[in-house]
Amino acid sequence: MSQTLFEKIIAREIPAEILYEDDRVLAFRDIQPQAPEHVLIIPKKPIPRVGDASREDQALLGHLLLTAGEVARELGLQDGFRLVMNHGKNGGETVPHLHCHLLGGRPLKWPPG
Ligand code: 5GP
Repeated sequence: MSQTLFEKIIAREIPAEILYEDDRVLAFRDIQPQAPEHVLIIPKKPIPRVGDASREDQALLGHLLLTAGEVARELGLQDGFRLVMNHGKNGGETVPHLHCHLLGGRPLKWPPG
């Protein structure tokens, strides 16, 4: 199977502004930010999307969310932020590698479009 764009970022084949990395996850700034702070947190394991994850990914997904919270704290988003995972065409997914958007730095409207 061909590598996804995000696997190429993990492999440093495509540059990105990386904010956090460990053996299981990577956090980097979105190339087209939709808020003053827009970070993507991804697992290094190439799970296509959240609905494709399995029970064996439970600890990994927990770690991903905890990392998102830590990155938000590091960015000083104490006034609030939003985490979003887009699944599939109707969800607005464009990159088939599970990712959690962290958006903050401005008031965010609800419901999203
Ligand atoms: P999705 O639409 O799949 O939920 O989110 C994919 C995100 O990846 C989009 O917000 C898009 O701006 C971001 N993105 C696409 N290509 C690149 C890239 O080459 N580098 C970075 N840092 N982000 C990207």
